Amino acid sequence: MLRFASLGSGSKGNGTLVASGGHCLLVDCGFTIRETERRMARLGVSPADLSAILVTHEHSDHLSGVAPLARKYGLPVYLTPGTLRARDIGKLPRVHLIEGHQPFAVADIDVTPVAVPHDAREAAQFVFRSRGSSLGLLTDLGTVTPHVEAHFGDCDALVLEANHDPQMLAQGPYPPSLKRRVGGAYGHLSNQQAAGFLQRVGCERLQHLVVAHISEKNNTVERAREALEDAAGQVANCIFACQQQGFDWLHIDKA
Ligand SMILES: [Zn+2]
Ligand SMILES: [Zn+2]
Repeated sequence: MLRFASLGSGSKGNGTLVASGGHCLLVDCGFTIRETERRMARLGVSPADLSAILVTHEHSDHLSGVAPLARKYGLPVYLTPGTLRARDIGKLPRVHLIEGHQPFAVADIDVTPVAVPHDAREAAQFVFRSRGSSLGLLTDLGTVTPHVEAHFGDCDALVLEANHDPQMLAQGPYPPSLKRRVGGAYGHLSNQQAAGFLQRVGCERLQHLVVAHISEKNNTVERAREALEDAAGQVANCIFACQQQGFDWLHIDKA
């Protein structure tokens, strides 16, 4: 059974666990080793249990803890060539390049990387499939392209970014250049963009919808909930991920 959990979600650090059978993957790590170990222990696992780390892109909230953790535990790291070359990541014990966003498998989990528009060199988000069920992780993108919609539109569970409320972003503390970046086509999805995506693809199939990467400065859970109300009402389980706690394990039943 495919299951997933989060170490934390937001601009101060991200990390998502995806597990099936006895195998567990960590997608991104924006925390120190100690903090990662502590947050994983909360979810009943240790970095020593991981089969691999997958990286979506080079921003610090996703990457800063990857190399130290990979070195300490001897873990293979999967990432695109663009992400590998975007900055000095530090020495990695084993690198698997995701070339041309080609699908690959880690143990019995099939992984489809999906290119997304974001202000990173070669960002990828992921769809996971195992034993007949699927999970989409979709954060850090400024626009929902037809390509994104085609890949994430029929998942059984979805972690979806609702980063900001446009009004709060406009009136918030960020300098104008950062406001343009966050709200732009290569920035982050607003509550309304997330809701629009869900309306277009439909939510009937979704067992879990996790609203994620919610800005602590430019959004509130209440605003996100309000914007996503119509879509979320059709989903069996809708929760909101937070920066400190992430979210606890969720299990996906076979479709
Ligand atoms: Zn991010
Ligand atoms: Zn990012």
